[in-house]
Amino acid sequence: MKKRIGIIGAGILGLAVAYKVQEQYPSAQIVLFEKENGPGKHQSSHNSGVLHCGLYYQPGSLKARLAVEGIRSMVDFCGRNRISYELCGKVVIASDEREKRFLENLASRGSANGLKGLRFLDSAELKHREPFVKACASLLVPEEGIVDYPAVMDSLASLIQQKGGLLFYNSMVKGVKEEHLSGRVVIETPQKDMVVDLLVCCAGLHADRLYRSCTGEFSPLKIIPFRGEYQMLKPEAEGLVNHLVYPVPDPAFPFLGVHFTRLVHGGREVGPNAVLAFKREGYSGLEFSLRDTVDSLTYPGLLRFVSNNLKFTAGELSSSLFKNAFLAKAKKLIPDITRKQLVKGTAGVRAQSVASDGKLVMDFNIVRQGNQIHVLNAPSPGATASLAIAGYIVEQYIH
Ligand SMILES: Cc1cc2nc3c(=O)[nH]c(=O)nc-3n(C[C@H](O)[C@H](O)[C@H](O)COP(=O)(O)OP(=O)(O)OC[C@H]3O[C@@H](n4cnc5c(N)ncnc54)[C@H](O)[C@@H]3O)c2cc1C
Repeated sequence: MKKRIGIIGAGILGLAVAYKVQEQYPSAQIVLFEKENGPGKHQSSHNSGVLHCGLYYQPGSLKARLAVEGIRSMVDFCGRNRISYELCGKVVIASDEREKRFLENLASRGSANGLKGLRFLDSAELKHREPFVKACASLLVPEEGIVDYPAVMDSLASLIQQKGGLLFYNSMVKGVKEEHLSGRVVIETPQKDMVVDLLVCCAGLHADRLYRSCTGEFSPLKIIPFRGEYQMLKPEAEGLVNHLVYPVPDPAFPFLGVHFTRLVHGGREVGPNAVLAFKREGYSGLEFSLRDTVDSLTYPGLLRFVSNNLKFTAGELSSSLFKNAFLAKAKKLIPDITRKQLVKGTAGVRAQSVASDGKLVMDFNIVRQGNQIHVLNAPSPGATASLAIAGYIVEQYIH
């Protein structure tokens, strides 16, 4: 295939698409535009660094299929490119009888998705693995792990360039024009215009806006930014957790709840919460964008979400405003943890699609419009699954 493929966004997904196109079609020319001065400055480097293996997702969904396939591809990629990762396993904790039933459902989901080695731990084994964790029941997910996603992106970017792909940083795409006769797409940036045969948009937090400016139509899904804030365990408290310790998530939401994560280069993170953000790329609670706020607050889907989930919304907001509210979420898993052992960490902002009926879109969502392919929803486990999502896009849409 001697085609020129344009990609917008050098997050992990845009890079993975470029890499997979080159793998499948070595003669295709890749041109990738990124508005920042390097790869992965947003979601892909502001996440938990976890390799999710497919426990949570509705069997048969794209997420279930691509997470299971994705973790294997990611581990293989890391092995071949000497990127730090570790399949350290995770323990999911039920704190009461109600959560225990949810945990049993999760275990069935995981088995249906093909996960291997799932098993409930007895109290002696839990104590051996995670002595400070309190549980009514606990499920071991041995395939789960941790990884250095920024190193994955650096490696993808240099492999793409080695094969002749062109990466343009500091190049914000304002819009595109489609040539009527040829169907080719003219990508417009302040520096240059470039003509491509096919365009793939992986714009994360700006996916809906780019859909609008590229297709001229309103996006079927709206991105609402949900900030996820972390605390770090002080070095002297790191012994409180050995691996990955997660609560049973509320099945109504795609967020996994405040959890403990061992980072691949050392340190222990606690979080993230899920707070409505006033800026799409606002990493602190103080950052505000009038455009983003008005955009969110005038969207009926968000208003429906908030009014249907007042308790959730208020609980997450209070965990952002008050350290003790955050601590309470952490204490549910490890009661011995104290306020003094936590120190403010980083934050990320999730690009979460919300439908007009107020439901959070759970599955990955990818649409095609003419010669444009738009990724409209790629929340967690989008980093784990990135190579599999990219493979899916190439197989389905790029011939
Ligand atoms: C707090 C948090 C925790 C998470 N934890 C995990 C985890 O542990 N494991 C996991 O698998 N997933 C996790 N995720 C999800 C994962 O990070 C995302 O699914 C993934 O990073 C999405 O990648 P992306 O390339 O689509 O988006 P991004 O990384 O956001 O990339 C989009 C890129 O598009 C660029 N862009 C946007 N508009 C334009 C434009 N007009 N012109 C040019 N460039 C543009 C942006 O600058 C950006 O670089 C988490 C996410 C968050 C926020």
